[in-house]
Amino acid sequence: MQVEVIRPYGFCHGVKRATEIAFDLREKEKNRPIVILGQLVHNDNVAQALKEKHIETILVDDEIENKLKQYPLDTLVFFTAHGHLKKYDEMLDNLHLESIDAICPSVKLNNERIKNSLNAKKDIVYIGKSHHPETEAALDIDERIILFDVKTKEFIQRIKFPSYHQAIIFSQTTLSEKHYLDAIQMIKKKYRSIDIAPRACFEMYRREEAVKNIDPLTELIYIVGSKHSSNANELYQTACEFHNDINVEMISCKDDINKKTIENVSRVAIVSSASTPDKVIEDIQNYLESL
Ligand code: SF4
Repeated sequence: MQVEVIRPYGFCHGVKRATEIAFDLREKEKNRPIVILGQLVHNDNVAQALKEKHIETILVDDEIENKLKQYPLDTLVFFTAHGHLKKYDEMLDNLHLESIDAICPSVKLNNERIKNSLNAKKDIVYIGKSHHPETEAALDIDERIILFDVKTKEFIQRIKFPSYHQAIIFSQTTLSEKHYLDAIQMIKKKYRSIDIAPRACFEMYRREEAVKNIDPLTELIYIVGSKHSSNANELYQTACEFHNDINVEMISCKDDINKKTIENVSRVAIVSSASTPDKVIEDIQNYLESL
């Protein structure tokens, strides 16, 4: 079987950095409880490795404060690469818990650019997916930021204020090019003029372009990622759209490979989401090449 691993593969630099920070922290702070607020990476192998190192993950919901109250005062609370809401800093201060922020430098740069644009006398429009943690953290910067939700294609304005009829546009880093460009077209219709802020991360763009360029003679495309991962779903949709005569499947690891799917298949492409470790991709490659 001819197997092509589409590059780049493995973690994006933000996820890689956050994961390394978490494991390094465990090495340095051997006896302290460590809890991660929300999923560090949408990957079962990493989740299992964190558990084995006694690094807990807790869901961020309305009960978060009560959950954290159950932990000892020397607990380290870990924020993921997506960024987080300001209220959690206040909450941890009140609970006297120390925190570590593993926000991706590119997400941080995006958020800093948003902050610097707040006084530009233009509407700030953020293209993103409502309820995605990165989008929620960006919107939390200021209530005046208007969300353009790529799922519903609606503008969500949280407080009333007169529009400047001009807008500066920012976006969630894990959107597909199609979602991003379609959103810009819709925003253009609403405003007299728009400025598009430079994008802070091209990780998704590079992966998506690589998917579009997969050899048309390929018979099967595996998108490797979690069904809960925004960028894995975006890559899946791109593959289906650009290769509608190739079978496209989403799997999370080698064990998800259905032998029937690969029967009589001689060319496979493996695509990695930004939250899939290198090893998962290499295991799939080795397995397929061994057939
Ligand atoms: S996709 Fe880009 S911005 Fe988002 S976490 Fe990865 S490297 Fe950072």
